[in-house]
Order: sequence, then structure tokens, then C-alpha cells
Amino acid sequence: MTQTIDAVAGLLAGGGVVVLSGAGLSTDSGIPDYRGPSGVARRHTPMTFQAFTGDPAARHRYWARSHLGWRTIARAEPNGGHAAVARLQRGCLVDAVITQNVDGLHTAAGSTPVVELHGSLDAVVCLGCGDRTAREELDRRLREANPGFSAAVAAVNPDGDADLADAQVARFRPVDCEWCRTGMLKPDVVFFGETVPPARVAACFDLVQQARAVLVLGSSLTVMSGRRFVIRAAKRGIPVAIVNQGPTRGDDYATVRVDAPLGLVLPELADRLTPRAPLAASRADAGVARG
Ligand SMILES: [Zn+2]
Repeated sequence: MTQTIDAVAGLLAGGGVVVLSGAGLSTDSGIPDYRGPSGVARRHTPMTFQAFTGDPAARHRYWARSHLGWRTIARAEPNGGHAAVARLQRGCLVDAVITQNVDGLHTAAGSTPVVELHGSLDAVVCLGCGDRTAREELDRRLREANPGFSAAVAAVNPDGDADLADAQVARFRPVDCEWCRTGMLKPDVVFFGETVPPARVAACFDLVQQARAVLVLGSSLTVMSGRRFVIRAAKRGIPVAIVNQGPTRGDDYATVRVDAPLGLVLPELADRLTPRAPLAASRADAGVARG
């Protein structure tokens, strides 16, 4: 494994790297990766855009579950992997982060710029009038409409959805758009069966094509939404490094492949490649690490 980490470090050292991250990067923050090896099996199929917009009962169920599941996402803190990516970005080795995650943890760790490919759970959009509001504001309104609504949450999925019994779902009262009163409210995330806004995809292709290397972190690249960037990079002769636990559907395009926990690999890479800020702390750390 040391040799492959050396190879990834070698790629990063040249700078101009674009990171593509997925659910595996957020598992250490308590957000399960339902596709990865450490993830819990998903108990129900993910909400599709078609079901959400076409079936009022499905939408009601989604909001009831999401009302509880969002609290786990809102409470989650960035982990050592997010912090390492932010350090590499501050050190001018990583130019940009494209993330498939909707948890906002890259930004919380200090990364910038971050393109949230699948949107973010911290915003809500009205499909009727287009009004976009903060999820916190909707949360306040939902709590007001549902005093005392509490239920045991068996599991929370990466998209902020939670498992909830039917009887509890029935008790939940959703709220309408405050502006038009009729439009459907939807978290500002890309659902299964929904396409990523074309301008956002184009911006990501631009980033990838200008990159000197692409570093995939914690994604099995199962969906084409993310895998297409890896394929594009490989076709352009841009090296691709993949750090993920378990195989990915991009392995055939990878120049380097590290199958190891991100919580170990990323801090090591950041330690090797970015200078430690205060000199005193650096000496103390070196003493502990090498002693
Ligand atoms: Zn509206």
C-alpha cells in the first residue's frame, strides 16, 4: 500500500488536481455509505424524482422521513478526510473539489471552491415558483407544524432520508411553499431519475479537462453522473488516482488505485505534502511521530 500512496503523493505534488468525492468520504462523519463496504444496507429504495413529483403519498413519506433524517446531516461534522482535502487545497495542490455528496461537509471543512454536483440538503426549492430557501427555515416551519413529532429513527441514509413506520408517517404534517402556496417543495438535491443541471455538468467537465490529475475519493463510481468525469479524464490522458475501500466502476481508467480507509490515507497525504503551520507545533509533532 505504501507504494501506491507514494504514487498518489507523486501525482498530488505536481498540483493542479481536481478531487471527485463520494459518500465514502463522509462515513467517518456518521453518514452511512449505502453502497460502500462499511455501509448499512438500505432498507427502502431511494426516492426517485418521478415518485416524488408524481405521487403525493410518496412525497409525504419523503418529507416525514427527511424531517428527522436531516437532523443527523445537520449535526454531522467534517472528518479528518475533509480536513486533509481542505489542507491540500489551501496548499495549492488541489484546485477544486467536485462532490457527489449533499451534506455540505467539504465547505464546512474550509474547502473552496466546491461544486456540489448533486446539490445540497441545506437548501429547499419550490418546483412551482422557483423560490429557494434555507433548509433551516423549512425545518423551523416543519417543527411548528408538527409539535412533539418524534419517532425512533432506525437508520439515516446519505441523502438525509430516514426510516420511519407508516403510522408515524401518517401523523406528519408537511408544509407548503410560503410564497405561491401551491408549489411542491423539494430539497435542492438531484434525485435518482433526475438529471444534473447542464451548466453544472459543463462546469465540472471544464474543471476536469483543465486538471493535471483527477483524484477520486470514496466513490464506487456506480452512477454515470460521477463516472463520466473519470472517463473524460482518462480519454484526455489525464492521470486518475482512486482512493476507495472496495472496487469501483472506474478502476479500469485509474492510473493509481488505493484500497484503504480514507481516514488513514488522506491525513498522511496532507502531512507529507503540506507544511505544518506553527514551527513549535511542527517540532513537537515531529518528535512524537518519529520518536
Ligand atoms: Zn412556490
